[in-house]
Amino acid sequence: MAEKRDYYEVLGISKNANDDEIRKAYRSLAKKYHPDVNKAPDAEAKFKEINEAYEVLSDKQKRATYDQFGFAGMDGAQAGAGQGFGGFQSGSFDDLNDIFSSFFGGGDMGGFGQQRSSRRAAGPRRGEDRYMKINIDFMDACFGKTENVTLNVDEKCTRCGGTGAYSGSDIETCSTCHGSGTVITQQRTAFGVFQSQGVCPDCHGTGKRIRRVCPECGGTGYKHNRVTVEVKIPAGIADGQSLHIAGKGERGTNGGDNGDLYIQVHIRPHNQFVRDGKNITLEIPVSAVDATLGCTVDVPTINGEVTMKIPAGTQEGTQLRLRGEGVPDIRGGKPGDQLCTIRIQIDKKLSSREKDLYRELQNEESSSKKNPFDSFRKMFN
Ligand SMILES: [Zn+2]
Ligand SMILES: [Zn+2]
Repeated sequence: MAEKRDYYEVLGISKNANDDEIRKAYRSLAKKYHPDVNKAPDAEAKFKEINEAYEVLSDKQKRATYDQFGFAGMDGAQAGAGQGFGGFQSGSFDDLNDIFSSFFGGGDMGGFGQQRSSRRAAGPRRGEDRYMKINIDFMDACFGKTENVTLNVDEKCTRCGGTGAYSGSDIETCSTCHGSGTVITQQRTAFGVFQSQGVCPDCHGTGKRIRRVCPECGGTGYKHNRVTVEVKIPAGIADGQSLHIAGKGERGTNGGDNGDLYIQVHIRPHNQFVRDGKNITLEIPVSAVDATLGCTVDVPTINGEVTMKIPAGTQEGTQLRLRGEGVPDIRGGKPGDQLCTIRIQIDKKLSSREKDLYRELQNEESSSKKNPFDSFRKMFN
């Protein structure tokens, strides 16, 4: 995962920019990177980044939290409240629609305008996907967890199925646009007549008119619900992986289905265990005497303590493998291993008895010509 960029940097504004400057910066960037316009491969990612930054900086409270705590605040502030979630609802609909109309609605931008209007016309349209982030503990990533996420979702009204009408017979074709959802307007200028296509003002692009509205949703076709979604985090999930939850994204239009929700999982690091894919690495301190003579140690693993034999003559940096003591496989395959790196510790403080014993060893080494430095020096003669 690429490092997240500072929201102010994303919008190219200073930390003390006012609301107006934030909005202006957002609008010009959103126009530039909108995936309908910008076909560069990274345009969509940029567009999302811009939306996320705007979502936070345009909201006084979120901005204050961000200023104080940075990204940690965005996730952590809510995590502290017990939810463990900090999400961004992708894009603000009103602002985006605003941008579309300012960008596509212009009379002499015929090409774009038509493209846009024909997409908008009449039929149901699926909502945008939505992206959230979640921080989880190291052990929860190893063994899995079920989290309940509470979020606001505009769900299709069950009574009218998203049409907004009291009954099927209350839906009639819009007489202004004859059901196309678009109208063609002509504009006379000094350069000639310009023809442009725009959203029908009477039906707002739905192509329909409703006589009696649905009493359940008041004609909107959706209900603003606060829902709790059970998110199953599978054992062995890796940092940065996303979970897909169907139908919990932004609302569709004209009876279209909701987009989906993607929850990206970030794993908080453990203070000892380090993950390398399915394997876990851990450094094990061992005394010089134990490494020389060999010993057995009880090594912590994510599954609890495991007895491991350190053979006599083990060298500094040796890696010993505890098979199957790594992270479970996310697809139910073989779990990973724990790789223990031996770190030989040399004592700095010795008791006088220890000193005496070491001196004895030293004398033994020089008399038996086993001293490694002496053999090393001989190579230079
Ligand atoms: Zn119409
Ligand atoms: Zn309804």
